[in-house]
Amino acid sequence: MRIVLLGAPGSGKGTQAKKLMADRNIPQISTGDMLRAAAASGSRFGQQAKEIMDAGQLVSDDIVLGIISERLMEADAESGFILDGFPRTEKQALDLNDLLDEMGKPLDAAVLLDVDFDILMKRLTGRRTCSLTGKLLNIYFSPREELVECTNAGGELIQREDDNEEVIKSRLEVYRSRTEPLIDFYSKRGKLKTVNADGAIDEVYERFLEVLQ
Ligand code: AMP
Repeated sequence: MRIVLLGAPGSGKGTQAKKLMADRNIPQISTGDMLRAAAASGSRFGQQAKEIMDAGQLVSDDIVLGIISERLMEADAESGFILDGFPRTEKQALDLNDLLDEMGKPLDAAVLLDVDFDILMKRLTGRRTCSLTGKLLNIYFSPREELVECTNAGGELIQREDDNEEVIKSRLEVYRSRTEPLIDFYSKRGKLKTVNADGAIDEVYERFLEVLQ
């Protein structure tokens, strides 16, 4: 199965991709995670990427395409993949089509995780990662026991640097202007499937599996 996950920041792409990855044994390929890893490595490229990410802007199309094309050549992507956070611009979507055509591996679907704006803001401003377990939590939505479990064990609830309100606003604006047009792009090509992504993680996952059938 080869799919693209579309959706605004906070729509749950990473969470749903991880569940599907575990179920179907295909990798979640997240350009955001790869760029954060580059930033953490402290390389010159990583530092440049970090500045762009911290401002809520997009890293250049050529750079992310380079990262993605190398990643798609790896052995674990042979039997399929879930692209999370790529493509984000029409240029990236066109280049991805070309790349997959060359590989003889066209996309099966582009799945849009559709969420109301107010919920997005709470998901993003409330998002935290437990420093001990790496578990994704949310101060508004996670059960209190799960939040306390982390802090009681000596962990910290860490907020992503680009999850503060000002940066969130620019990320959502960038999504509207650059990425939202991809809904039309994939719809015109008969690839779009839409999932109502309001609700609990498992509920959304059920709906996600339904559209993949
Ligand atoms: P994410 O974790 O998907 O929200 O991505 C975090 C940040 O990484 C974004 O706000 C962008 O700065 C950068 N990024 C991730 N994927 C892409 C992409 N496909 N094109 C350009 N920039 C990206």
